[in-house]
Amino acid sequence: MAPERKCRDIKFLVGDGIFAAETILTKLGIEGTCRVLLDHHHLLSLEIGSWPKAFGLNLFSLLKEDLTLMVKSPSATAYEEALEGVRSKLHNHPDQKHAQYLETHIHSKRHLFANHIVQSFPGHLNIQGNAPAEANHASIVARVGSLVMEPVLLLESLMERHLSICSERNHCISLRHVQCQALAMQSTDRSTIEALKGLSSWGFKLYEKAIRHSQKLHHRKSLDGSHQFHYIDGSSTLTIEASTDVCSCPVWVATGGTTQCSHLLILQGGFPKEKWAVRWHQRTALGKITPYQ
Ligand SMILES: [Zn+2]
Repeated sequence: MAPERKCRDIKFLVGDGIFAAETILTKLGIEGTCRVLLDHHHLLSLEIGSWPKAFGLNLFSLLKEDLTLMVKSPSATAYEEALEGVRSKLHNHPDQKHAQYLETHIHSKRHLFANHIVQSFPGHLNIQGNAPAEANHASIVARVGSLVMEPVLLLESLMERHLSICSERNHCISLRHVQCQALAMQSTDRSTIEALKGLSSWGFKLYEKAIRHSQKLHHRKSLDGSHQFHYIDGSSTLTIEASTDVCSCPVWVATGGTTQCSHLLILQGGFPKEKWAVRWHQRTALGKITPYQ
């Protein structure tokens, strides 16, 4: 479905517990460039979650708050405190298989789900699950049906669905292109005009967010060459290295350095399209996206 997307460019594979062994990375030869993330819903949901199933619903109800905090962990300290909470509750449990499960299937796999760890990996995009893939699957079932089909008929149905989606998407992209041209004519800000013409809908939302944040910041260059930012209301400060192409803030890390965060927008003096990876660009060459029409 995406022939121009290189395997080595994929930063995360998101799925349920079947991927916990991470062997898929080795099989695809991307163990050095890609990480596995376990879908949060598939871990914690009372209906389909692997942890309620492993502990049983009664025991899980006692552990749920701490286990949820281990998944949504804002910091290493919060994770450790929640882990100790679960350990203490399992310490005197008559069946020690639960304590063992906690250590071998949860704590030792924390790099696959704990937010404070996952969000330190570049390019995580703040994802917490595989909802888009689930939605895609639901769409296929809705359009094609859940009955077993001959492979040729199934392929035909999938192709028809794909063409239908492409047609709808092309319409949205064309509409977006025209709207952006109109909005650019109404704006007087050079950066905003260039961003409207250069970025896709998703990319422009990130740009707008970065602009709004940058307007709350003061910038000062220190004698050692580093750049310091602080909020106009004095609430906090961030210091970044001298390079104007690299930032250490969570937004820049989340996109794997493929966009401009609020700090780089300030340091780079506005929006240049080349600072944004192609994935965020608006597809102005509309002829290229209608290969089936
Ligand atoms: Zn930044």
